[in-house]
Amino acid sequence: MAKTFHLEIIATDRVFFEGEVEHLVITAIDGLLGILPGHEPLVTCLPTGELKYMVNGKWKYAAISEGFIQVMPESSIILADTCELPEEIDIKRAEAAKERAEEQLRQKQSIKEYYQTQAALNRAMNRLKISQKHFK
Ligand code: ATP
Repeated sequence: MAKTFHLEIIATDRVFFEGEVEHLVITAIDGLLGILPGHEPLVTCLPTGELKYMVNGKWKYAAISEGFIQVMPESSIILADTCELPEEIDIKRAEAAKERAEEQLRQKQSIKEYYQTQAALNRAMNRLKISQKHFK
């Protein structure tokens, strides 16, 4: 049997996943980060992106928005604003959010509003990408 470690993925509104996994790959700020059982401890920020984890030899994919990960040799915890499976993503909603953000970016905004809009655009584009890539 493959070696496993315990993974918890906690989003603002739900416990997205809790269980044993064989492998985890996340988009970290400086590129892809692969976690196997026995990984050295680390804490890092997670930007909006894709994550995948392997359960019983099968990869599961998810869209994640900003958060943190704590890695320990026998467990990892991800805290994120939002997390969705590809099949949970409402494409029309993400397209509407993308159009709204693009329209707002054409308007004059404060720096704070600009960063918030850019983050909303990233979330929408990430959802569209992951839904198109993994949900057929
Ligand atoms: P919107 O403007 O459509 O609300 P948003 O990016 O501002 O998009 P978030 O604040 O990231 O939304 O998420 C709020 C909640 O809605 C979370 O529970 C998130 O998982 C869910 N959610 C947001 N967009 C989608 C989507 N396109 N499909 C499914 N769930 C979504």
